[in-house]
Amino acid sequence: MSDSANEYKGKATMEKITSLAKRRGFVFQSSEIYGGQSGAWDYGPLGVELKNRIAQFWWKEMTQLHDDIVGLDAAILMHPRTWEASGHVENFTDPLVDCKKCKARFRTDMVPEENLSAKKCPECEGELTDSRKFNLMFSTHIGPAEDSASLIYIRPETAQGIYVNYKNIIQSNRMKIPFGIAQIGKAFRNEIVTKNFIFRTCEFEQMEMQYFVKPGTDEEWFNEWKKRRWASYEKLGVKMDHLRWHQHGPDELAHYAKDAYDIQYLFPMGWRELEGIHNRTDYDLSRHTEYSGKDMQYIDQENSSERYIPYIIETSAGLTRNVLMTLCDAYDEEKVADKGNDDDSRTVLRFHPTVAPITVAVLPLMKKDGLAELAQDIRSELKEDFATDYDQGGAIGRRYRRQDEAGTPFCVTIDYESKENHSVTLRFRDSMEQVRVNRAELAERLRKEIKEYKRSC
Ligand code: ATP
Repeated sequence: MSDSANEYKGKATMEKITSLAKRRGFVFQSSEIYGGQSGAWDYGPLGVELKNRIAQFWWKEMTQLHDDIVGLDAAILMHPRTWEASGHVENFTDPLVDCKKCKARFRTDMVPEENLSAKKCPECEGELTDSRKFNLMFSTHIGPAEDSASLIYIRPETAQGIYVNYKNIIQSNRMKIPFGIAQIGKAFRNEIVTKNFIFRTCEFEQMEMQYFVKPGTDEEWFNEWKKRRWASYEKLGVKMDHLRWHQHGPDELAHYAKDAYDIQYLFPMGWRELEGIHNRTDYDLSRHTEYSGKDMQYIDQENSSERYIPYIIETSAGLTRNVLMTLCDAYDEEKVADKGNDDDSRTVLRFHPTVAPITVAVLPLMKKDGLAELAQDIRSELKEDFATDYDQGGAIGRRYRRQDEAGTPFCVTIDYESKENHSVTLRFRDSMEQVRVNRAELAERLRKEIKEYKRSC
């Protein structure tokens, strides 16, 4: 895997992304004042907006644009039998080895073969322990007694909340197969190695959709969902040469899967999984039937009441991993020479306007002569429809740079002419081009620019 980092030709590095994220309030280390908590991160003012917008885009793609998909928000805490039925208690493990000398811990599959066979630590050459299985689920106790009866797991994926509600949703919403259930929510895994910023964390968010189909139509739907998920990244303007498919080989396939593909993204550290599309067969619902004693069969009323356990096609994306992908994908540095600024380089986040934390920033050229008041007035007008920012401090060129670095696609500048003829300057982040727009037409123009946005660099 590490070799693939050589393929990355973009300007981002994980150091630059981590430092920009902190400097501009996208992502902070959790509990930083106490030295930080590994595997956990806090999303700051710009980060929470970015994350929410990526989630909203996905939610719209999956529910609003599909009549046959409904939403769900299931609890994180579930009956412990759920995780026995799902196979997580038994199978959700990573093999690990420890170094007896430096105490470092590694996932066995990450240790070079020659070190494993020689039982030699890749960091200090100390002796490695035998490989042992380690369950990734966090557990705790519910209620006052800490005994086996009160054991409860903190969900490692959102999918099971969907499976246990599948009958409720059929009954309450009169869903007919094929149909899907979408959910966004937190998941927790006791990851052994949490590096690369927010790529792999112990606490993260997933965006999962489970699509219930008639057995026999599963391969067709699997291919259809592969196409749809790929198209969704294209719609969001992701660099398509940074995306590729990876089919799971027989040794990678999860115990429940008939076929599985990952969409991988070329991160600065190499190609890594972004989202998985899985044909989970009837495994989950059959297991829940067995463990709960409840009949999970679908009754096809329109087809002589035919009964069957549906197959499930799953699309499972990491929301927080998508935040990292979006930051890396948007990151750019370039030499520029625009007027009003002596600095000839800029860092710019070329977010699609649909996910940019701030859509439009309003900047008065001067604070005085009523320009600030006029700018505030225009901002209030735009606030109803757009995520706005207001900045009146410092040279205009510097203010543009600050917005470029936050990924704001549009700036509106108010100058003396604005007072006279009600026009404003609209500046585009990517091209730095500036056009004069009538105040009365500004909101409409912004809506058009957002709708027609195409990334050109
Ligand atoms: P990986 O191989 O990276 O451990 P996985 O195959 O276990 O991932 P799934 O269980 O299929 O992942 O989870 C679906 C998605 O959830 C992944 O594609 C990824 O985007 C996200 N995800 C999984 N584990 C983590 C994690 N520890 N931190 C952040 N995101 C995660």
